[in-house]
Amino acid sequence: MAKTKTTFFCQNCGAQFAKWQGQCTSCKEWNTIAEEVIQKAEKTSWKTNETSVHTERGRSARPTLISEISSEKETRLNTKNEELNRVLGGGLVPGSLTLLGGEPGIGKSTLMLQVALQLPYKTLYVSGEESAQQIKMRAARIHPEANTCYILTETKTQNIFRNIAEMQPDIVVIDSIQTLHTDYIESSAGSISQIRECTTELIKFAKETATPVILIGHITKDGNIAGPKILEHMVDTVLQFEGDRNHIYRILRANKNRFGSTNELGIYEMQGSGLREVSNPSEILISKNEEELSGTAIASTLEGMRPLMIEIQALVSTAVYGTPQRSATGYNAKRLNMILAVLEKRAGFKLGAKDVFLNVTGGITVDDPAIDLAVVAAVLSSNIDIAIDKRMCFAAEIGLAGEVRPVTRVDQRILEAEKLGFESIIISKYCKLPKASYGINIIKLAKVNDVVQHLFG
Ligand SMILES: [Zn+2]
Repeated sequence: MAKTKTTFFCQNCGAQFAKWQGQCTSCKEWNTIAEEVIQKAEKTSWKTNETSVHTERGRSARPTLISEISSEKETRLNTKNEELNRVLGGGLVPGSLTLLGGEPGIGKSTLMLQVALQLPYKTLYVSGEESAQQIKMRAARIHPEANTCYILTETKTQNIFRNIAEMQPDIVVIDSIQTLHTDYIESSAGSISQIRECTTELIKFAKETATPVILIGHITKDGNIAGPKILEHMVDTVLQFEGDRNHIYRILRANKNRFGSTNELGIYEMQGSGLREVSNPSEILISKNEEELSGTAIASTLEGMRPLMIEIQALVSTAVYGTPQRSATGYNAKRLNMILAVLEKRAGFKLGAKDVFLNVTGGITVDDPAIDLAVVAAVLSSNIDIAIDKRMCFAAEIGLAGEVRPVTRVDQRILEAEKLGFESIIISKYCKLPKASYGINIIKLAKVNDVVQHLFG
């Protein structure tokens, strides 16, 4: 019997150590280093037999003159899921490895099963989490007439590859990477060395056969993919599925994308029959209250290439317990403090002794500076308890001098507001508009004081 070989891994960042130590020198976390048994066999190929399988889509390993490489647009596999296609940058790239992360229970498996059932390609859905019967029950709810999706309940990579070699799927989905284990490593499933080795095998498989592989990965409480950070470095694309579990909306975004932008956003609504794609998110993000309430303002923002109307809610009240509270959900708290300081200094509002709560509705987080002006409007509206006209929206950044600054692609923001039936939009005086006229009233203002004057007289 071979001698057992062990090594030490930080369970947080995946750094490797020769012996145990209390603190990881790489990520500075305490008590995260654990011993793992690694017994590497000679062969680490994903293949179960030595004869190599060359598919016509497989990549050649010969050097090619750059002038001879075809410049055709890389073919992508349409997932039939518009939101997912958008976030991926136009579909799945052959041979790519995509990691879908998210908290447990958020609906990652539902999303991937739904995608797998709708795919017009031969798809292998490997589950180490649920039995085939459980998956069947869920599939019957989501998409009963699917017939290109194969289910395999297996956790050992060698067995998975044996099945893949037999059925030759076009797309492979693994639910989840934390349940996989390979024969070449002896530590338990979900450990750093197992995750790393299984992912390496899957990468080799994906690249050699040009088959796209989607991995589902669970996320720890502090927002990291459970297991090593290196997993994120190994794959081509990291998608994040998020949203408050109490909200019915889910956001899909790319944290890393080798084949597209990371700005795009996909929105889904959780329903009994699965996840519905929300193609016009603005409608759901704005509350349908008939009566006008103080403290709300609508911002015209952009998430990636897509315009999005979102509602900002503010509550300003006299601080009861000495130190005023400032809290922001979905908006940067430091930026809120800056805006409050600007309002105090430049517009003469005494907000220093007030509690200020700010909320972006729909459970989404926005870092587009164009929502600043809507934040100002919501805060002031709540402070003096006068509602803002519901048919008005905002798109401008606020500077430290209290100036209303222009924002990018203002034209697109105006058109979205127009499309949704808003009557007026407030933008910066210094915005250059490509069109002479719009079907919406455009109000151009230069200073925060002008905004106050315009809104509240
Ligand atoms: Zn570490």
